[in-house]
Amino acid sequence: MEESQNAVRKISFFFVAVVSVLLFLSFLSLYQAVETYRRTGSPDYLTVTMSVSAIALSSYMILQMRRKPVKLGFEPPKVYTTVECPNCQFKSTREFQEGDYVFKEVENCPKCSGKMFISFIYRIADEEKK
Ligand SMILES: [Zn+2]
Repeated sequence: MEESQNAVRKISFFFVAVVSVLLFLSFLSLYQAVETYRRTGSPDYLTVTMSVSAIALSSYMILQMRRKPVKLGFEPPKVYTTVECPNCQFKSTREFQEGDYVFKEVENCPKCSGKMFISFIYRIADEEKK
């Protein structure tokens, strides 16, 4: 799973590099169009339009890349165990450990040293925000 995420990151980096080069070339041709205009007095509308739209497109793509980091690997849902003390109502939640089951007696209460037991086992799925 880590490897696929690395691959995605590499592709993203490559993509950003390509877009950066495109951006650079766009600025270059825009600069040349301005220079041509200075020398000849006639603006090269086609080159200017193409450079400006290429710059706009590249910027948009870079912004999109930053906003939405590509995430292909999915994280397994996390399972939590809630431990409760019947004496003093102390509650604590920790990550699920193997062998946990509801009503299992666990370590003593840190407040009153009474017996604590597991009251809940639940899982939270990491939902991707879209
Ligand atoms: Zn207690």
